[in-house]
Amino acid sequence: MSHTGSAGGQPGSQRTTDQASALSKPARAYAELVAGNQRFVGGAPRHPNQDAGHRAAVADGQHPFAVIVGCSDSRLAAEIIFDRGLGDLFVVRTAGHTAGPEVLGSVEYAVTVLGTPLVVVLGHDSCGAVQAARESTATGTAPSGHLRAVVDAVLPSLRRAEAEGVDDIDGIVDIHIAHTVETLLGQSPVLADEVAQGRCAVVGVSYRLAAGVVRPVAAVPADFAPLGVPTGSAEPAAA
Ligand SMILES: [Zn+2]
Repeated sequence: MSHTGSAGGQPGSQRTTDQASALSKPARAYAELVAGNQRFVGGAPRHPNQDAGHRAAVADGQHPFAVIVGCSDSRLAAEIIFDRGLGDLFVVRTAGHTAGPEVLGSVEYAVTVLGTPLVVVLGHDSCGAVQAARESTATGTAPSGHLRAVVDAVLPSLRRAEAEGVDDIDGIVDIHIAHTVETLLGQSPVLADEVAQGRCAVVGVSYRLAAGVVRPVAAVPADFAPLGVPTGSAEPAAA
């Protein structure tokens, strides 16, 4: 029943599994993601749960262990950068991981109906949506069509960055990731309640396009343990 069942039986993961057994379900889920990312970064992906047998096994039902609310950027494919497979991740992607009603509904579906214990906001350096919003502000021109909705959703993050004296694009991206975490929780009482009950955690991470590594930038609850431990303890350190 545990999500770790899909990964815990793999060679080399025993130590991680033993240590992870003392952790909460959200913490175990996060540890699985970090371990997968380290495999990807280190050039040793296992491509778990991508074979025909697993495809058949999950056809009758899904129990993804993490929701990914990620940027649509083509270089940010969740199952690849976290080295996971079918049935593992419930992925919602929009440009700049902007979170409107359909995104919120999708997250709530995963967390309440599927019982997924972790929500990860996945942003990245050089994000085009953040750059577009910055350009729009700088030139005083709004983009045409529905792209405007994306830019409008990023503007609060730009204002916060300005208030905090942050003007490099990657610093703004970090702020925008934290803003999306707050938006999910602020706009979804359903998700906030799951977190308050300890059944779920929300973590914001920033991905580096060139290095392939993810770095946590925000978490709710704020003392969410895995930000410092015990991630990747059985995996070789990323180069
Ligand atoms: Zn992006």
